[in-house]
Amino acid sequence: MKQGTLLLISMFIIVMMLLNSCNIKIINSPGSITKTDVSVVEKTPYLLLISLDGFRWDYVEKYNPPNLSSFIKSGVKSASLIPSFPTKTFPNHYTIATGLYPDKHGLIGNIFYDYNKETLFNKRNPKMAEDGSFYGGSPIWVEANKAGIVTASYFFVGTEAKIQGIRPTYYYKFDNNVENEQRVNQTLDWLNLEETNRPHLITLYFGDMDKVGHTYGTRDEDKLKTALFELDKNLGDLFKGISETNLPVNIIIVSDHGMGDQSTHNIIPIDSIENDDLFMTIENGTIVNIHPKKAIEIDTVLQYLRLKEHNFKAYRTENTPGFEYIPTNKNWGAIQLIPDFGYHFWNQRRKDALIEDGVTTFGVHGYDSKYKEMHGIFYANGPAFKDGYEIHSIKNIHIYPLMCEILGLKIPESIDGDIKEIKSILKENN
Ligand SMILES: [Zn+2]
Repeated sequence: MKQGTLLLISMFIIVMMLLNSCNIKIINSPGSITKTDVSVVEKTPYLLLISLDGFRWDYVEKYNPPNLSSFIKSGVKSASLIPSFPTKTFPNHYTIATGLYPDKHGLIGNIFYDYNKETLFNKRNPKMAEDGSFYGGSPIWVEANKAGIVTASYFFVGTEAKIQGIRPTYYYKFDNNVENEQRVNQTLDWLNLEETNRPHLITLYFGDMDKVGHTYGTRDEDKLKTALFELDKNLGDLFKGISETNLPVNIIIVSDHGMGDQSTHNIIPIDSIENDDLFMTIENGTIVNIHPKKAIEIDTVLQYLRLKEHNFKAYRTENTPGFEYIPTNKNWGAIQLIPDFGYHFWNQRRKDALIEDGVTTFGVHGYDSKYKEMHGIFYANGPAFKDGYEIHSIKNIHIYPLMCEILGLKIPESIDGDIKEIKSILKENN
């Protein structure tokens, strides 16, 4: 190849890399997917769904962040939000978005083997996170879009993917380095658009509490409180900006799961259990999917794993504790390994690195939701919601039908959530 050609190719690659590393805004022109129907626009209420990743059910009571506390005082709060099993980020965000348990919507872990595609799904692989064919069910923004409602998202699991050929009208590729201020300002800009282009459903995501919880665990009160109060300030700016628009915006604040504490010494090295001749191992920390190799009996694998049981147990998938139903999705694999609470699978290398760095405790989630530490939050405020109302702990499958109800969308019959379980938080005339 000539030197000039090589230079041109190198320059092209560098430019592409630079473009990729910047946070490129990808915005569809409004109404490019579904035609905006003016009569729909005028009647549709506004709904803002905010996810605070890893926000445990007891943080507000414990630390009293001012803006969230006053949001709750004049709105609705549930004692806690019960996540679906496994209590991980991808499965639960997408359960909130679809009203389906992970078994049905298909995102059964942050990482899992897909038998139909014969490939490993990993949430960290942007190509996969953006591939709509992994996402089952009909997320709320897809349903809204089909009904002619303009939708927007500053991050939420699934919004980067074309699901049933549809993305939110405005959306961004996930980049957790984007400052919270930018997410808040863009949301306010959307709400200040002229009416025909203004989204009536917006999703927002903040990862701060998950990050601090994982790094320090939940017992480092200074670190948690500092992160919480910074996030609370962002939320305060958002609430103030929304009230200045004078629009009747309903706001739902949720989290995907809570957080538990873990000692570094309680990491179970997965390397000591793996056996490539007998099975494939998909490690999700608090649940390990075991896929016996072709021609290997499930019982043979079970016997092998049971001999290894130490601070964990091996189960046939259908008998695994934690599931709210009998799982039927093939992608779980035939056997699950479940660590005792406070134990966790990682590899030996990672365990050694933590010990070397002097890390003694950190935060984890993913366990059975019978452990209250895994519970998240559900708060709501706006014209559709009662004032100062408290409801018992609710399952996150019920949020989807609630959002359908608020947006005036028909609730699909085949979902796991049930509007009756949550409807009492709405004002009577809603
Ligand atoms: Zn997390």
